[in-house]
Amino acid sequence: MTPISDVFMLPYDTILNFDTLTLINNSGYSRIPIYEGNRDNIVGLLHVKDLSLIDADHNLQLKVVLDFYSHPLLKVFEDDKLDKMLNEFKQGQSHMALIQRVIDNGVKDPYYESIGIVTLEDVIEELIQAEINDE
Ligand code: ADP
Repeated sequence: MTPISDVFMLPYDTILNFDTLTLINNSGYSRIPIYEGNRDNIVGLLHVKDLSLIDADHNLQLKVVLDFYSHPLLKVFEDDKLDKMLNEFKQGQSHMALIQRVIDNGVKDPYYESIGIVTLEDVIEELIQAEINDE
């Protein structure tokens, strides 16, 4: 997985202007988790290709694009097995999943913590025990 601290993500209230579109483009990623409030609270997934017709001068709100496309956000647990992940990805709903852990310290109700993301590429690399270099 890619740990949550290394994930390139954007806040839900992002305005799509020249600066943010440049930032997204320079990140080089094709899928970007979207958080609200703090980075732990991931509420959506942006596919960068959805931005191809967006005009930077229109200062569109990112949430308009997110609501329009509404890509599903798969959630899995850190101890899920790779064959389960591969089957989820094969169904084609999404090729990225958020990895969660249950925190139960006995003090307050158990809750989920997001600890990273995993993509189809990560799973395949693990299965073939080799790096896949991007184009
Ligand atoms: P991309 O299509 O954006 O290159 P891949 O699915 O091919 O993404 O994944 C390549 C690697 O990049 C994987 O290790 C994956 O965990 C990581 N990755 C994908 N998206 C992000 C992101 N938004 N932030 C950080 N790492 C990411």
